[in-house]
This record gives sequence, C-alpha cells and structure tokens, in this order.
Amino acid sequence: MPAPLAKVDSSPQLPTSADVVVIGGGIIGSFAAYYLQKRGLQVALIEKGLVGAEQSSRNWGWCRQQNRDARELPLATKSLELWERFTADTGEQTGFRRCGLLYLSNDESELARWARWREVARSAGVTTHVLSAAEASERGRATGRSWRGGVYSPTDGTADPALAAPAVARALLQIGGTVHQQCAARGIETTAGRVSGVITERGSIRTRSVILAAGAWASSFCRQLGIRFPQATLRQSLLAVASNGAGVPDALVSAGVSITRRGDRRYVFALSGRGRIDPTPQLLRFSGSFLPMFARRWRNLALGGLEGLRSGHEGLSRWPLDRPTPMERMRILDPSPDQALLRLAHRRAVKLIPALQDCVITGAWGGYVDTTPDGVPAIGECGIPGFVLAAGFSGHGFGIGPGAGHLVADIVSGDAPIMDPHSVHPDRLIKSAWGKVADF
Ligand SMILES: Cc1cc2nc3c(=O)[nH]c(=O)nc-3n(C[C@H](O)[C@H](O)[C@H](O)COP(=O)(O)OP(=O)(O)OC[C@H]3O[C@@H](n4cnc5c(N)ncnc54)[C@H](O)[C@@H]3O)c2cc1C
Repeated sequence: MPAPLAKVDSSPQLPTSADVVVIGGGIIGSFAAYYLQKRGLQVALIEKGLVGAEQSSRNWGWCRQQNRDARELPLATKSLELWERFTADTGEQTGFRRCGLLYLSNDESELARWARWREVARSAGVTTHVLSAAEASERGRATGRSWRGGVYSPTDGTADPALAAPAVARALLQIGGTVHQQCAARGIETTAGRVSGVITERGSIRTRSVILAAGAWASSFCRQLGIRFPQATLRQSLLAVASNGAGVPDALVSAGVSITRRGDRRYVFALSGRGRIDPTPQLLRFSGSFLPMFARRWRNLALGGLEGLRSGHEGLSRWPLDRPTPMERMRILDPSPDQALLRLAHRRAVKLIPALQDCVITGAWGGYVDTTPDGVPAIGECGIPGFVLAAGFSGHGFGIGPGAGHLVADIVSGDAPIMDPHSVHPDRLIKSAWGKVADF
C-alpha cells in the first residue's frame, strides 16, 4: 500500500531546452529545482512517477540534528531554518514544526553514546539536553515507567512526508519552473565531453547542467554513464494508526520502537534502523564497499527476498535510450512492508505507550532507504562536466532536504556553498571512505 501523498499538477509541455534539468522529484530534487529557479535559472523537474512518491513520502518525517554525523550536521542545522523560511516565502505547507525529539533508553552504552554526541553538538552550537533518569522519566511519562536517561533536542522537529515534496514542486511551478511527471529520464547527451542534454521518454531537453536526484535509482543510472556510485538499499516498514494521541510525544525513539505523529494526526510506528536487505546484482557488485557498514549494523539487518530483483532499480544491464527502460516499467517503487516487523512494532509501541492500545490500524507501507557505504550523502559534480549527483541520503535525506537542495543549487550556480561540500563529495566513496561509517 502506498503512503499518503498530496498531488501536484504537471506542466503541459516538455521544454526543448532548460538551464538546468533535475532528474527525480523527491524532496532533494524538488528543493534543488526550487532554489535554482529562484536564482533566475530556468529549471525542468523530471519525475518518472509522481512527485514525492518514493522515499520522500514513506519516511517518519524527522528533521533532526540530534545524533547526526559531524560531516552532515551543518546541512541538518541549515535545513531547519530553511524549512521555516520556505513556508514563510511561499505560503506552501510542509507540516514542518519544531516539536522537539525525545530519545529514551535504559542502556548505559547507548546513553554514553548520546552523551558523547553532546560534545559534537556543543562544538557546532546545537542545543541538546542530555536527560537524567528523573528528567527522562518525566518527559516520557506517557510510557508510565521510569528510564535511566535520554536526550531531548528542542529545536529539532518533523515535517509531513505526504505534503512536503509536492509543496516544493508547487512552489517551483509558481515561480516559473516546470514539472513533468510520468516522464522518465533515460540518459544524458554530451558534446565535447560536457553535458548537452537529457533524453527522456517524451523527447530530449537541451541543457548544460543536470542534477541526478534519483534516490534508489541513482547508481544504476550512473552506471549507464560509466560513473561508479556505490549504493545499496535497505527495505524498511512502517505501520500507521489513528489515535487521539492524548499525552503521546510527537516524536519518540526507544531501542524497541519509534513513534511519530504525522500531519494528519495519525501516528506511525517503526523499528528504529531495522530492515531487510533484498539481494540484487548491484548489491553483489558493491558488497565489498558495504562490508564495514554491514558489519557495524548487522544486528538491525536481515536478508530479504526477491523484491529487489523484481523492482529492477538495482540491475546491472545497460539500457538502450530508444526503448522503455526499467524506470518506465516501475513508475513507483512500492516494496511490501515486512509483516513480522510490523507486528513487532505494534506490540512494542503498545507496550511502550499503553494509551495506544485501542488505536485502529489504518495503513502500512514499505520503502527502500538508499545508502552509501559510509552513511553520508553523495553531493557534487562527478564523472562528466555539468553532471551533479545528489543521492545516497542514507535514511536522513528528508530532514536535510532543504539544505541539500540549497547546496546542490550553490554548486550548479557557482554561488558560495552553504557548507564545505568537500566532506560529501561522491569521489570520497571511490578514494577514501572505506570503513569510515557514520558514527551515529
Ligand atoms: C521508512 C523510511 C523512513 C525514513 N525516515 C526518515 C526520517 O525520519 N528523516 C529523514 O530525514 N529521512 C528519513 N528517511 C530517508 C528519506 O526518506 C530519504 O533520504 C529522502 O526522502 C531521499 O530523497 P530523494 O529525493 O533523494 O529520493 P526519493 O524520495 O526516493 O526520490 C527520488 C525520485 O527520483 C525518481 N526517479 C528515479 N530515477 C528517475 C529517472 N531516471 N527519471 C525520472 N525520475 C526518476 C523516483 O521516481 C523518485 O520519485 C526514511 C526513509 C524511509 C524509506
């Protein structure tokens, strides 16, 4: 079952040329397109399915600095400000609220890890409160039990995944950009070694700049261009329930389960970080690069099934540009949720917060989280002059979507970047990232 999603209109005609073509209408591509159009460039946003329909509508909605890797923290901090500014500037609603995020634990090693992160936070000027046992038990009173400790990050928040990417694409339309759904990009044209166009299923667009924000499809697209981008996907599952939520925190994580209130007042339950790895040819190809990541996170990972093979997003075949590609056969990646994980998430959520006992289950969905070997996104020009990759958001891309989109726009337009782009450049994945898995 797909996650709820607001709709956005498509533009009537594919342009014959554009200053920038953005491939992929998730949160990253939408924000990148919006910021570039705002700078006076003419932008076309190309989406093979519906804007926001893959990862960007299927996530928990957390927009957090808390426990972020230091390489990514500047983007997280900048993004919180940009979420607010976006609605103030456009009037479009993303459901963003600084509701604060609450982490509770009885595990001393986890508490020690969170306390260590406070040092990272301090050096970056981020407010986070490490909670004593009494404070954690008070903040977590809806659980009706006592806790050894926790963390509360008051300036973090959530946005609504059902609303956000479509809201940004609508804002793009309002300022003169174009949006093309049900339109897959099949490949890139080059002239004298530089990007000169994008070939889509509906015709070509002349352009000197392309942004590939294709989420779980990015690596197989890069392969067509001879660019090596190590990427793997993890299938995660969410359960949605209707609840009046009296007394339930808006965003809560414990070791067992996470609980988040969405904009439509439903809550979603998920098992923090848990998921399945569906074997695919691409997974085999990059397994060496991912060994340190899998070794670090093996407790949360289980082998999946044939879903990944059937979806076609991680194939190794080369596709001709004059015929339908795997992306036209799979307009929207909609992997099945893992029923065993959903049952466990439900049991744990109800045990954690007894007030959720009578909640009615209203939906469940799966989503592929696209990751890099070090758990940090890949953003930067690579392979071909004029080709900018923005993918591999490793389960964090929704919250940092505005900052990442801004950074991509900075790179393409040559403006001063909002953070040093060096630590997120894709080249590190080939040259120096082995074993440097994100700590938090
Ligand atoms: C269950 C789950 C929970 C998560 N929780 C959180 C969270 O709480 N906070 C957080 O920050 N992040 C979270 N994430 C991660 C977050 O959702 C992603 O990092 C983020 O949405 C990635 O955005 P994106 O735009 O890169 O990719 P996507 O949203 O996947 O968008 C990529 C788009 O590109 C399109 N596309 C691909 N190839 C082509 C092509 N050739 N032509 C045209 N279009 C193409 C696809 O159709 C798709 O719409 C979660 C993810 C999941 C699955």
